[in-house]
Amino acid sequence: RTLNNFKNLRGTVDLLPDQLIKWQNVEKIILEQLFRASIKEIRTPILEMTELFMRGIGEGTDVVSKEMYTFLDRGERSCTLRPEGTASVARALIQNGLSNKPPQKLWYMGPMFRYERPQAGRQRQFHQLGVEFVGLDSLRSDVEIITLAWDILEKLGIKELNLEINTLGDNNDRLNFQKEFLKWLEANKKFLDLDSQKRIEKNPLRILDTKNVQTKKILEDAPRLFDFLSEKSLERYLNIKEQLKLLKIPYVENLNLVRGLDYYTHTAFEITSGSLGSQSTVCGGGRYDNLISQMGGIETPAIGFAIGLERLILLAGKDLDKKRETDIYIVNKGFQAEILALNLSRKLRNYDLVTELDLSGASFSKQFKKANKFKSKSIIVIGHNEALKNEFIIRLFNEESIENMEETISFEDVMKLDNWLDKNLLLKRSF
Ligand code: ATP
Ligand code: MG
Repeated sequence: RTLNNFKNLRGTVDLLPDQLIKWQNVEKIILEQLFRASIKEIRTPILEMTELFMRGIGEGTDVVSKEMYTFLDRGERSCTLRPEGTASVARALIQNGLSNKPPQKLWYMGPMFRYERPQAGRQRQFHQLGVEFVGLDSLRSDVEIITLAWDILEKLGIKELNLEINTLGDNNDRLNFQKEFLKWLEANKKFLDLDSQKRIEKNPLRILDTKNVQTKKILEDAPRLFDFLSEKSLERYLNIKEQLKLLKIPYVENLNLVRGLDYYTHTAFEITSGSLGSQSTVCGGGRYDNLISQMGGIETPAIGFAIGLERLILLAGKDLDKKRETDIYIVNKGFQAEILALNLSRKLRNYDLVTELDLSGASFSKQFKKANKFKSKSIIVIGHNEALKNEFIIRLFNEESIENMEETISFEDVMKLDNWLDKNLLLKRSF
């Protein structure tokens, strides 16, 4: 087997420099939004004990039962590449004694792993941005989480967004519903699709979320979770909807919206976009008041969401693809000149400038051609003569301005360089 036979694993993707321009632009906007909202970053290991996800996410979920990358390490411990971020964040907070401290507003971003059938917008290694509010139970925290997700997507210029919300009630509401729902499911089992039949024992709530048209139709006559909500749960939900209205965040109520992970309570929401096709969900989130206590922490309410970055990139506006132009191309030739050029390029990094140092040692005309190809705004030339006098030539690099904008500057004359950059590239020194 020779090296060029190697390929990446199915469902994983190389992100190449040209693609990453958009990723970096998108990430920059997101991080700025999070920073301005005083949300702090948390980084947890990509690898965790398998137990964490079995208990945290729930063994009856698709993610845990079918999609996890699980293996034994050399010490025979069962390890899993994280399929999502919430369980790890909860573990880290409990373990570091932070879950019962004042409320935490946290974000994470990074790769997740699920063994799924790869398609557009669905990979085996993919990326999520998640936000978690831990220790907050006010309904305004639900509203803030939803608006945060909404605003991030809007800031990225994504149109055609649909927000769907639902409530899953508290534990009691769900238990009451489940009792009746199970009775109904048993009575109607033979009308359900196979997948749904299998879920009756493992995860009956998920049946509500089926994509099977036939089952969907039959479910219309099933008991509805909504009718089992306590007064309190119902009021909470109505208030959240009221606040969303006041904030002019458009939403659609979807009483069948349940999320694929077991830990959710009360508010559940998804944001979809019509332009994504069948993998339409870009953001999923909800409240998970039981997770932290289930995992051995002190009872702590929490709510969060996760955005799939691959789908986000597919949606984000074309203008985010734009590469930042080269400001200065440094043409240089000859031993002395090349050292000076290298040193000058280091100095130029004190400015908010994109510089390209030509390392080819090729002829001046070849280097000029390259500068042209780069569409550099300006050009610095250092040849043997300039090097001897310890100076360089700088000028704008478009045909009309070649003559009048040229300046010869001594390496010691920082002021003159400052002035030239200020006047011609509208740049000030950034240190
Ligand atoms: P789906 O119904 O599309 O499988 P999900 O309910 O499994 O989504 P969540 O666990 O809620 O997804 O994850 C949140 C978001 O992460 C999704 O809305 C989606 O944007 C993204 N996501 C989930 N799985 C994948 C995947 N395999 N590849 C790419 N993005 C994904
Ligand atoms: Mg899924």
